[in-house]
Amino acid sequence: MPLESLDIAWILISAALVMLMQVGFCFLESGLVRAKNSINVAIKNMSDFCISACTYWIFGFGIMFGLSWNGWFGSNLFLINAKEDYGLMAFFVFQLVFCGTAITIISGAVAERMRFSAYLLVATLTSGLVYPFFGHWAWGGAVPDTKIGWLADQGFIDFAGSTVVHSVGAWVSLAAILVIGPRIGVFTQGKSQIQGHNLTLASGGVLLLWVGWIGFNGGSTLALNVQVPHIIANTIIAGAFGGTAAMLVAYAYYRMARTYAIMNGIIGGLVGITASCHVVSTGAAAIIGACSGVLCFFGMRAMERFKLDDAVGAVPAHGLCGVWGTLSVAIFGSQELWGTGLSRIEQLWVQCQGILVCFVWTFGIAYLALKVINKLYPLRVTADEEIAGLNVSEHGASTELIDLITDMSAQDSAKSFTKRVHVEPHTEVGQIAAEYNRVLERVEEEFFQREKALTAVQKAQVEAFRANEVKSEFLANMSHELRTPLGIIIGYIELIKDDLKENNAPFNEEDFDTITHSSKHLLHLINGVLDISKIEAGQVQISVDYIKISALVEDLRRSAQPLIRENNNTFIIEVDPKVESIYTDHTKLEQCLLNLISNAAKFTNNGTISLFIQPTLMDSCESGVVFEVIDTGIGIPAEETSTIFDAFTQVDGTASRQYQGTGLGLAITKNFAELLGGSISLQSETGKGSNFRLVLPSKNPGEYIKEIPSGVDQKENSL
Ligand code: ADP
Repeated sequence: MPLESLDIAWILISAALVMLMQVGFCFLESGLVRAKNSINVAIKNMSDFCISACTYWIFGFGIMFGLSWNGWFGSNLFLINAKEDYGLMAFFVFQLVFCGTAITIISGAVAERMRFSAYLLVATLTSGLVYPFFGHWAWGGAVPDTKIGWLADQGFIDFAGSTVVHSVGAWVSLAAILVIGPRIGVFTQGKSQIQGHNLTLASGGVLLLWVGWIGFNGGSTLALNVQVPHIIANTIIAGAFGGTAAMLVAYAYYRMARTYAIMNGIIGGLVGITASCHVVSTGAAAIIGACSGVLCFFGMRAMERFKLDDAVGAVPAHGLCGVWGTLSVAIFGSQELWGTGLSRIEQLWVQCQGILVCFVWTFGIAYLALKVINKLYPLRVTADEEIAGLNVSEHGASTELIDLITDMSAQDSAKSFTKRVHVEPHTEVGQIAAEYNRVLERVEEEFFQREKALTAVQKAQVEAFRANEVKSEFLANMSHELRTPLGIIIGYIELIKDDLKENNAPFNEEDFDTITHSSKHLLHLINGVLDISKIEAGQVQISVDYIKISALVEDLRRSAQPLIRENNNTFIIEVDPKVESIYTDHTKLEQCLLNLISNAAKFTNNGTISLFIQPTLMDSCESGVVFEVIDTGIGIPAEETSTIFDAFTQVDGTASRQYQGTGLGLAITKNFAELLGGSISLQSETGKGSNFRLVLPSKNPGEYIKEIPSGVDQKENSL
């Protein structure tokens, strides 16, 4: 090829810049995938260049630029070794790196799930067959005396390869994406859920690509002529407008400048200007770039919508923008600069034809070939390998981070954290692993201590429970033995007193009264303790029957009258006529009411004690009876009302201390009320009086009848 030294130098510098794009693609694609696949993507980027360089030198360059067979394929320049024709060799180097670019686009799109060997097959197929054939049709004839390719002959213009390089890479990617399917879990909520692991690296990759594009477009003049600065300006401007437009659209959509959108917008703009940078004004380049950025953004959204998993957005950026860029030649280009002699419409038609031919040829061949290969040899890694990550499954290339994650997942799946994770000394990840192990140790220690404390508490609880049971059983069984002699003592005191009175014997009656009073108090105390013990021992039995309210009220009036009179109180009883009877345990109900009335009488002086009996509705909606015992006595402080029903609890302070009592009455009453299916509540105000509400179901309390424990005397319960 007759080229000046300066031109050759420019071509070679441009080739170096284009090769730098390999670094850009490597950074971009490996940054946009998850860490577990980053090495795999990087290795693919290197290997596909090796493969494409080999095949392109052996036969790709010959097919693309050799002597044309009727415009369809070249037939010489295989294994090129033109030592003397340094122009041709420079051209070969430039075209070689172009081929590498087309192939490397694919690796990003199919990242994270395509088998490495399968990818090399795709790279071989594309660089050896798909790319050079189409390249010949569009660019064939660039080497003197080789005859022109059939598309170029029609007037098809694609200056630096919007279609020839970028669309070819994109359409092969699309075919591969369709054949191998999306990554596991990528579209779980209608959107791509997988985020790149290093967007900083990816952004650096885009900037490197941008720099490389100066050689990509600038070098395509194959001469350092007056066109070059304009072409480079157009290239940079289109990239900038592409990024800006995509950023604005992303902002309008997501209210934030999405990294992916900006990165792909820039690449879209650069791809868009590639076909026409030599024939459009810089203003047109800005429009082409901006439109490319927008197109790229919506292309990415469309891919997501159709669940086409393109890991790096290669199809929209290189495919769609490639199409747009190729059409832009006819839309924005200057007719004089085309040099094809076609009108704008004719040129547009030729451009469409080229785009269509590229798609049918590239996508068609790639899709068919990959479908067949996939049947014989699965292109995709297994699900387990994909989950483990291709770095490890395809290359055994583990990293400290991956080792740590693998150790942690192993712990998780084994549900055992006793084994510690491996610590790689003198690394950051090693420090994290060591810290993680320390945390595990602390958590284990904490669990151990807690378990120890818990066991001690549980043991103490069991012992306390057992001791309480033994005590309650003892007391319950001792009831006869305690109460019978006391009853006899009280009876005999009365008899002796009567005898002495009858025989007119001298005696101190007051002493006898003190003995009787103290004995009765002791009996009351023993009865209280026995009742509570029986309740705790679960030995309370209930026997229900219909009780006439009028008879109950009469009994209460008779029993309570002496107590009422003691402190000069008035006793009022009001019964709603609707309440005639209640189906419950007579003894227990009477005991509860007597407890309440005697308390009211005890803590009230010169006041009124009222008993109101009315129908009510229980919380469970069954009909019930409410027994209200209201007094105008000393009352109970608000803070005590919640604990006053606990056994052995009395209101603290001098006021209550002057009164006798056991602190068991209310506890027994509450337990009985609950055993009878009811409840008791209290409203009280210090100095104003108290209102106890005992609510019991009026009928059908069958479910509350307890089994009588064997060996317990049924009559024993009555006082
Ligand atoms: P006891 O009356 O034998 O001490 P109770 O369990 O029946 O035991 O009552 C516990 C405490 O509740 C009493 O000591 C008293 O302080 C308080 N109390 C109960 N009823 C009333 C009332 N009607 N007015 C004021 N205080 C009361």
